[in-house]
Amino acid sequence: MSPILHVRSIRSTPVSVPMARPLGTSAQTIRHAPLLLIDLDTTEGVTGRAYLFCYLPAVPAAVARILDAAFEVIADDRVAPLEIGATLARHFRLIGVRGIVAMALAGIDVACWDALAIAAGVPLAVFLGSAPKSIRAYNSNGLGLIEASAAADEAEELLASGFDAIKMRLGRPTLEADLAAIRAVRRRVPDEIKIMADFNQALTLAEARRRCRAIDGEGLYWIEEPIRHDDYSGCAELVRELNTPIQIGENFAGPQAMAAAIAARAADFIPEASAHVLAATSTAHWLEFVDWAAPILAAPLQIVDGCGRIGDTPGTGVVWNDEAVARYRLT
Ligand SMILES: [Mg+2]
Repeated sequence: MSPILHVRSIRSTPVSVPMARPLGTSAQTIRHAPLLLIDLDTTEGVTGRAYLFCYLPAVPAAVARILDAAFEVIADDRVAPLEIGATLARHFRLIGVRGIVAMALAGIDVACWDALAIAAGVPLAVFLGSAPKSIRAYNSNGLGLIEASAAADEAEELLASGFDAIKMRLGRPTLEADLAAIRAVRRRVPDEIKIMADFNQALTLAEARRRCRAIDGEGLYWIEEPIRHDDYSGCAELVRELNTPIQIGENFAGPQAMAAAIAARAADFIPEASAHVLAATSTAHWLEFVDWAAPILAAPLQIVDGCGRIGDTPGTGVVWNDEAVARYRLT
């Protein structure tokens, strides 16, 4: 039976967490992860949690303001994520559910699902109808826009914890530098290791045609976001031209964007964030694993034999390490 809960309060805590390996993308280098931690308290005493990766230091506070405004709309409402999502989408219709508004609503959505699964006493994956299972994951930490031999060294380190897939960032000043890094990493790691690559939207369509053709024969497992994430016709052109699969989707602002991208045949693969949702998804592919929130979590996702392992903890398993939260809290 589905538990009946009601929204009592939404608390948000901005933190800045040092990253074990900086994330150097074509957009910028991030050394501290700006996160917003969300606690959704219910009248029935259950708390659902979620955290948002906010990219830039100014963003957590802005999302927190939107969360406060959203709470005014859904105070005392039943914790029913679909209803709450629809109510909030109506409320924010004039500004649109994009950017920080979409982030805030996503945080509330995940916290609602977490609360319901905790109240039911089962992991979220089980609440969604799956078994608690292991999800194949690739190590997406590190491998920023560094020099070729440093990239090869780091690739080796990233595989040490049992992964059999890693992702490198591309979008260096020249194609030749990207190519050198790909070849250095490929030469260093065993043949069976999968190497994904992510341009983080660095290229114009013309430059993407040139660079992606040049790296098409390098054995990459996928090429992610070579151009603007929402240029679906451009992405579709690359899908048609290349043998290497194209991956997009981490920047979709909701299911409508995903539907439009699928209709445009803009990608071969589309990513998802959560091990629990992947466990309950029949088309699940790879979990992107990053450890950026690990310092503030009481029990970060365990990786065993290259898979994210969903344990028995009810909900998503996200519980704060209070001492670390106090240490990294932004004021
Ligand atoms: Mg990406």
